[in-house]
Amino acid sequence: MREPFWRGLAAMDSAVGLEADWRSCLGQAFDLLAPFLVRTCQMESAHPCIAKPPCGCRHAVRETRTGLKAVCLCEDAVCEPFPVAASQLGAWELDRSRFDAALRAGLLLEACRHTPFARRSLHEIGAFPQAALPVCLALGQPDSVLCDLEEFWSLRPGPVLVLIPAPLDAPARFDSTLARNASLALALSTVLEPLPGGPFQLAGSLDDLIGPWLAQVSQTASRDTLFRATQRQISAVRREVARLPKLPEPVNEEDARRLFALVKQMDTDTAVRKAPLLQVFRLYCQENRSAAEVARDCGCSKALVVTRLAQLRRKLGRDPAQLRVIAGQFETMEEGFSDWRARKIQRRQAANLEDRDENED
Ligand SMILES: [Zn+2]
Ligand SMILES: [Zn+2]
Repeated sequence: MREPFWRGLAAMDSAVGLEADWRSCLGQAFDLLAPFLVRTCQMESAHPCIAKPPCGCRHAVRETRTGLKAVCLCEDAVCEPFPVAASQLGAWELDRSRFDAALRAGLLLEACRHTPFARRSLHEIGAFPQAALPVCLALGQPDSVLCDLEEFWSLRPGPVLVLIPAPLDAPARFDSTLARNASLALALSTVLEPLPGGPFQLAGSLDDLIGPWLAQVSQTASRDTLFRATQRQISAVRREVARLPKLPEPVNEEDARRLFALVKQMDTDTAVRKAPLLQVFRLYCQENRSAAEVARDCGCSKALVVTRLAQLRRKLGRDPAQLRVIAGQFETMEEGFSDWRARKIQRRQAANLEDRDENED
């Protein structure tokens, strides 16, 4: 009864119809679906043909002198009108929440942890416990199912197991769209047996059918999770590093000698009288003075000291503050320093020269 049950469900254009529609689609399997059908207040004005084989039209229900009759609308009116009772014209629909719950139990799925996605042709019924992969039931024409699926993926991209009642006649476009989204269609007619009274029972191994796909998407999912976790760690470390005070980079002795030689060279080249580079370097790096203290010592403005430090930074390719740690050990600096101090004393004696240097940069 498995095959007629699922094929019959697939044959229903929608999950609502007259009892006659359900019976004509499901045949003997109707009784297995009956527990999931509920009466709606909708009254139909057409009735399926009861001829065998059917004429091809949906008979229109008309009032006649002898009561309600279902009249054939075919051009040559091949069927005789047949009587219908008003009670036969009430529509029945599939109770989706009960049906979805029974499927979930039959397939051993977990309930959704959020509001399930529900559209006309697509219902999210649960998830695979191992991988938290969503499982949806598709009822309807493939085009409308695909339309609903696109909406689902726009909200929650990623793999989905799409349950369809029975294999599709022309699955190419359907399957390729699913494959593009790492998703898979599974025909329930191949795995789930409807039992009298409502429950479903697994009729085969789900693992055989979807095991490889499940393993593949779980692996991708755990890789993605690992990737995201690593990204989070990297960001955390970056934030941590940004908060750390800037420490001077270690400078080796050879580098330091080269840099000092550069400073001396620069001083000779520019030969300024006020706050020469070598002197600023000496006070700032070797004696750890602040820029303001250097300015006081050199008898110039702090702005000029800042300018000198910027010159040092540009030419040495390092922040002068970074050189403070090792500057003290170099005797070679002393020589330059004494030269400068001697010049400074001479300059104090010739105070009329003082102001000219302020704006030389
Ligand atoms: Zn007919
Ligand atoms: Zn007809």
